[in-house]
Amino acid sequence: MIVMKFGGTSVEDSKAIDRVVKIVRERLEQSPVVVVSAMAKVTDQLLATGRAAGEGEREKALDLSRALRERHYAAASELLSTGVFTDFHSELEADFDSLDELLRGIAAVGELTPRTMDNVVSFGERISSKMVAAAFSARGLNASHVDSRDCIVTDNTHGKALPQFDDTNTKLQKVVRPLLEHKRVPIMGGFIGSTKEGVTTTIGRGGSDFTAAIVGAGLGAERIEIWTDVDGMMTTDPGLCKDARRIKHISFEEAAELAYFGAKVLHPATLLPAIQKNIPVYVLNSRNARNEGTRITARGPKCRNAFKAIAAKKRITIVDVVATRMLMAHGFLKAIFEVFDKHKCPVDMVSTSEVSVSLTVDSNESIPAIAADLQKLADVKYEGRKAIVCLVGENIRGTRGIAAKVFGAIPEMNVRMISQGASEINISFVIEEDDVPEAIQSLHKAFFSDPDPEVFGEPLAAEAVKR
Ligand code: ADP
Ligand code: ASP
Ligand code: MG
Repeated sequence: MIVMKFGGTSVEDSKAIDRVVKIVRERLEQSPVVVVSAMAKVTDQLLATGRAAGEGEREKALDLSRALRERHYAAASELLSTGVFTDFHSELEADFDSLDELLRGIAAVGELTPRTMDNVVSFGERISSKMVAAAFSARGLNASHVDSRDCIVTDNTHGKALPQFDDTNTKLQKVVRPLLEHKRVPIMGGFIGSTKEGVTTTIGRGGSDFTAAIVGAGLGAERIEIWTDVDGMMTTDPGLCKDARRIKHISFEEAAELAYFGAKVLHPATLLPAIQKNIPVYVLNSRNARNEGTRITARGPKCRNAFKAIAAKKRITIVDVVATRMLMAHGFLKAIFEVFDKHKCPVDMVSTSEVSVSLTVDSNESIPAIAADLQKLADVKYEGRKAIVCLVGENIRGTRGIAAKVFGAIPEMNVRMISQGASEINISFVIEEDDVPEAIQSLHKAFFSDPDPEVFGEPLAAEAVKR
């Protein structure tokens, strides 16, 4: 069996869902399980709706919900014949009615907990998956909708819940496997799950990729396909640099590093289950299905370029801790890390001097509290709106003078921290968020003006002509 995941833009309207049906139809013999995101932008809109309700703005919340209801009705009516639409319409209506009831309740209390917010945002994937399943059935495919909350078991860290793999795998075998055995195509929403007690959770923004990998690993898939709106994993974000090229083949390790450092095309946790079970992952374009995309496997090909890709992770805060009293006494670093641990705040980059430590974290609302705790140990300053730029490639290991080439290639800008060696396959540094486009474009020009044709695709314009 295989897993095919379609992101928000791949199910954004009736035309996109039609393309999904065509793509899946061609793979029927491989027993696909289909995982879908909410329609494009719906998760953002549900978050805004939930927040409006939480602030007591009942009418605003209900207006936003009405707009979502209409968008889904419109797509469903375009996808389904009149008779089928009538039945499906009442199912949609029931879902939107319960969303509205929830919003009225939130507005009445004037308080929105992370648990309730998860319930609100879950409607995106709950509804899109039902709609895609209805479209499949209407086109003669043997499809069955699966409520992901019946199989993806998580802890109760609302908003970023952690999957409980053993329980999830048992449920996947119980709920999804029999459908495959009966030659049905299971269609489930990504991103959502539930606790053992049955409370709805979500696994973090962009998490549908992760769902696909969890399902693939749990059911022993031959491959996991991530269908999106670009031709594959590219040498950099094509939105930042028009010269970005498709990477034909890349290793798990390199792709994981890129995903972690900002290549949004893959959720950072996606590759973990795939690596554990050694399942190849493909990134493919639902608008250009004939393009062969990117293959991600345990070993990548040999490449004559120094790097495979450049990523940038924005919304970073630098925390500078200066030890005035203890002068880096024994146990100082441990005390600092305990503070980050207490606030469950992961640290990305660290650099130390005799008297100071600088760290980077994702900008988040607990930073003032973290700083207050650190202040008990030392002087603390923090500054947001930074970005980590990260160059990734297995050739870093053996290339002499590579760091000098990197820093020679970036235009004059304030580099705040540098890291090489923590992972043998990445060189990263911290700059102002506003400098990211310039840095990426200069680095891309320096390292990808002569890309190895064995590893990289044609320029975007040439690939587009082939469509
Ligand atoms: P989906 O909704 O299908 O999950 P996402 O928006 O999450 O799609 O991810 C696809 C987007 O990721 C692309 O449109 C692109 O702008 C962005 N992106 C960032 N870095 C890269 C990269 N290295 N390769 C490809 N896409 C990238
Ligand atoms: N719909 C969710 C989001 O927008 C999950 C996903 O699309 O992967 O974050
Ligand atoms: Mg995504």
